[in-house]
This record gives sequence, structure tokens and C-alpha cells, in this order.
Amino acid sequence: MPRPILATVHTAALRHNLARARTAAPDARVWAVVKADAYGHGIERAFEGLRGADGFALLDLTEAARVRALDWRGPILLLEGCFELRDLELCSRLALWHTVHCDEQINMLAAHKTQVPHRVFLKMNSGMNRLGFTPERYRAAWTRLNALPQVEEISLMTHFSDADGPKGVAVQLQAFEAVTQDLPGERTFSNSAATLRHGAALEGQSDWIRPGIAVYGSAPDYPEKSAADWDLLPAMTLSSKIIATQNLVAGDTVGYGSSFTADGPLRIGVVACGYADGYPRHCTTGTPVLVNGVRTRMVGRVSMDMITVDLTPVPDAGMGSEVTLWGRSSTGTVLSIDEIAGSAGTVGYELMCALAARVPAVVAD
Ligand SMILES: *Cc1c(COP(=O)(O)O)cnc(C)c1O
Repeated sequence: MPRPILATVHTAALRHNLARARTAAPDARVWAVVKADAYGHGIERAFEGLRGADGFALLDLTEAARVRALDWRGPILLLEGCFELRDLELCSRLALWHTVHCDEQINMLAAHKTQVPHRVFLKMNSGMNRLGFTPERYRAAWTRLNALPQVEEISLMTHFSDADGPKGVAVQLQAFEAVTQDLPGERTFSNSAATLRHGAALEGQSDWIRPGIAVYGSAPDYPEKSAADWDLLPAMTLSSKIIATQNLVAGDTVGYGSSFTADGPLRIGVVACGYADGYPRHCTTGTPVLVNGVRTRMVGRVSMDMITVDLTPVPDAGMGSEVTLWGRSSTGTVLSIDEIAGSAGTVGYELMCALAARVPAVVAD
């Protein structure tokens, strides 16, 4: 029997969350962002749940080829554009739309020989200071692109740094609009946080939204809002089983470094899941976990292949009992990945993406 750990990708949850994003921006088309192998869910595994999107956005050319191999004929957008000249050949061959964020990418396009001109997304650096032309240089880039026979259509794009926080999107949106208001072309700005929190303010201005994390059922602005507050369902369950139990007495310690000491009799379960599976080692005693769908807590340190959990609230649990590390238990109880991420001092994004290759994964409803 294989080790009992398993990741389950939930098709129905992906569909539900995608519909949720549409409700928040009813006039816009939706890119499902599937970079980083669909945030760790696996592009092929997530595809069935996401095929109702209007397009797929990602940044690795091999991932774009995988989406085409699933027979997806619709739009695919490369969020970082091309890295070298020959990437443009793949764009031509696979009909990929691509971001243009710097002069070097315009030079590459000018040098590219193609029968079919490309659709490009010209990115403005409106304050994030990662990718894009500054507002001062944006129109010159647009003019240069517009003169190229290799370019068929130019869309306009920016990315918000603070859609999930108190600063919001207003300053960046204003910078974008001041420069682009009389330019033709479709617009795209919003990640999950902008879509959910600022959907009303952006209504009618945005032709495409780009939700990622929300589609996978994690709140972009946890802990201010939870996934349940946003009506998002977990698209991934990480589950395992209890492979041993121990009965402790007062003064007994658990695991490496003896970081947990029992203050009385305590029954614990040993779970086949550790940091080599992608469960964060920064989680400490108290991190929530579900055993047979009942909420309890982890005790002691996370080791490479195991964690230990308090069985007090589930006295009938034992060898083989179901453990839900995050996601949905078979009784229907949900434990959001955001809670585990919070315990580890990180975000749901990182945990999803860090699911280890050794964890087998299946698709289910
Ligand atoms: C990753 C990414 C997104 C999606 O962000 P979420 O916070 O996961 O919704 C949108 N746009 C760009 C440019 C990205 O790189």
C-alpha cells in the first residue's frame, strides 16, 4: 500500500470559484491564472474545473504548450512575455498572446519573422515597480509597437501592488488612466484581490480580470477576510491517515527538540505528513487539523515525514483514521489552507505551490 498521503483537486470547487470571480466582475472576461502549475494543483488536473474560463494566463512557455496539448483553442496569455527571441516562434506556432513590458521585448518583436501578427498586452508600471513601462514612457512604447507589422492588436495592462490592503488601487488606477484614456484597446488590471475587493470601482473599465488565488479557494486578503467570507471553496484537499498512536502521561514530550510537553494524560496520533510533503515546518503546537472531520490541534514539531496531533476531541480515532491537513474532510468539514498558512507565517499561495512532487494527486468533485 502506498503511503496514505493524498492531494485531491476538486473540480466542482474550481468551477464554483470561477463563477464567483465572474459575479464580482460581470462585464469582464476571465483569465484563469494557472502559473506555477496551476498554483500547485497541476494544470492537467485543474483543467476540467477551469475550462469554463475565457482564457488561461501563465508565464512558462512549457506550461502554455501543456494547455494547448489539452486541446484548449482559446486565448493563452504569457504574463511576463517572452524571455528570448525564439520564444516568439512558439508564440506564433501556439497562438499565444504575450505581455510586452520592456524595450528589449519590442526589439525582439521587431526582429521576429512571422506570417501572423501577434496580439500583445503592453504593461504599465503604475507603481508596483516590477514589470512595465513607467507612465512617462508608456505612450512611446505603444507608438513603437503600433508601427510594427508583427503586431496586430495592443491591449493595455497593469498590476496592483495593494489591492488586498488599505492603500487600495485608486492611485495606480489614476496613473494608468491619465496616460491611456484616449488609447484604443482592451484593458486588464485585476488579480483576485482587486476583483473581489474593488470590483465595483473597476466595473465597466476592465475587459479582462486575472484571478488566481481566489479560483483555488483561498482568500487574497486573509485574515481580514476568510475564504468563507468570500464564498470560496477549497480546490485542494491535502489528506492523510493516522499511522500510529501514543498514550502520554504528564511530563512526556513529543518529537524533535521535545517542544511539546503533556501536562496530563494525552492520546496523540502520528500522521503520515511532514515538511517533505509540503506541510510547513514553521507550524507549531496549536495549528488546526481535522481528524475524522473533527477539529483538533497539532502538537510538537513538524518532522520530514510525520506530524503528531492531539486526539482528545476524537476519542474513537486510531490507526487509519482520516486526517485533513487542509481542504475538505469526507464529513464535509472545511479547514482553509489560509489558517495553516497563517500559523506558518506565510500565505495560502505558498503552501499550494509548495505541495511536494512525492504527494500523489487525484481529481474528484
Ligand atoms: C499571479 C498574477 C495574477 C493572479 O494573482 P492572484 O493574487 O493569485 O489573483 C494576476 N496578474 C498577474 C500579472 C500575475 O502575475
